[in-house]
Amino acid sequence: MDKWLEEAKKKDEKDTLKHFRKEFYIGDNVYYMDGNSLGLMSKRAEQSLFDVMEDWKHHGIDGWVKGERPWFYMSENIGERMAGLVGAGSHEVLATNSTTNNIHQTVRTLYEPTKTRYKILADELNFPSDIYALQSVLDDYGHSDGLVKVPSGDGHLLKTDTIIDMMDESVALILLPSVLYRSGQVLEMEKITEAAHEKDIIVGFDLCHSIGALPHQLKEWNVDFAIWCTYKHLSGGPGSVAGLYVHEKHHDKGVSLKGWFGNNKQTQFDMEHIFDQAPDISQYQVGTPHIFSMAPLLGVLDIFEEAGIENIRSKSLGLTDFMIGMIEDVLAGYDIDIVTPKEHASRGGHILIGHEKAAGINAALKSKGVVPDFRAPGYVRIAPVALYNSFEDVYRAVMILKEVMDDRLYDAFNNKRGVVA
Ligand SMILES: *Cc1c(COP(=O)(O)O)cnc(C)c1O
Repeated sequence: MDKWLEEAKKKDEKDTLKHFRKEFYIGDNVYYMDGNSLGLMSKRAEQSLFDVMEDWKHHGIDGWVKGERPWFYMSENIGERMAGLVGAGSHEVLATNSTTNNIHQTVRTLYEPTKTRYKILADELNFPSDIYALQSVLDDYGHSDGLVKVPSGDGHLLKTDTIIDMMDESVALILLPSVLYRSGQVLEMEKITEAAHEKDIIVGFDLCHSIGALPHQLKEWNVDFAIWCTYKHLSGGPGSVAGLYVHEKHHDKGVSLKGWFGNNKQTQFDMEHIFDQAPDISQYQVGTPHIFSMAPLLGVLDIFEEAGIENIRSKSLGLTDFMIGMIEDVLAGYDIDIVTPKEHASRGGHILIGHEKAAGINAALKSKGVVPDFRAPGYVRIAPVALYNSFEDVYRAVMILKEVMDDRLYDAFNNKRGVVA
């Protein structure tokens, strides 16, 4: 047997999370490595969605307060259950809206510009939606020129020193990713937060690519706010309700986007025209929560609680270590560039590889059952997920990649991206 296969089998045998694989719907001969874009469906997520539909069936309007999962408190309850994943107090985390909406809500609430301090610091590698949201806040406040982006020297990574050097007296707020969505680099959140606070700057992180893949200590690091989606590593389903965290020291600020679900629950149904803001994170809700888009989280979060985020992180690093090691060995001399940092502390839950035929390679891999994703102009992201991928999956995926390269299978596909890539 090939030494990498032997090694993979050994690692699988010792894997303490391997029993979770059978809880997910994963096809035969499919090597799903796209859990950082859309996590797979689990049986428990499916069941909890059915359960909530049963509540509707049997309770009608009373489902808001009756049954085991009263809808009226579901946003807060799921928030409490995500608090452990981000390292925050249960009254500081909420499930609500989408990531982009939550950027608007948190940034608009915490951004307090003055004549001289009004800039927002982001980075040139961030996801477009984050940038659109920040720019629109600045436009609405009459500071259209206020967006400053940390440059990346190489187009893939950011340097902590460069970020810190850009924190001057004109910056009011910072929003950066925890893990960069393309290169998979983890930023030094604690160090960045400390430096920002020395300059009295509010600092927040977008955890879309780290939630469910690595642990966070937002409260200990004193981070002001964070937002994240729940359909990537958390496997909450397409468009599942997003999460947010705001440090309790900011809960006395009036929220920007006010709505009746941000009202104090005790007085919400008094139907007064004067907003009585909820005292805790509940204040960040706007309208009626999207119950069916939250329901799968009730089930899948059980899996995360049982598995433990530290164990997930350690297996995830094992999987990406194995993949990097194997690519460097088996595919040495194939012009494949591994962009993702090798040091554990700087590596998130996926790896990014570069090749001039990347779009064709991605399509050829998909035709052979390996599911990564393509990022223009010449990159493929591969995310082996700790809860449902094995080391043998990684072995098979790399061997299929080798076949694609050896037989130039990518030439049979257009070297262009599809509408959703
Ligand atoms: C996935 C992702 C989003 C998506 O935002 P939605 O509002 O859920 O569409 C935003 N920002 C980053 C960094 C992401 O990775």
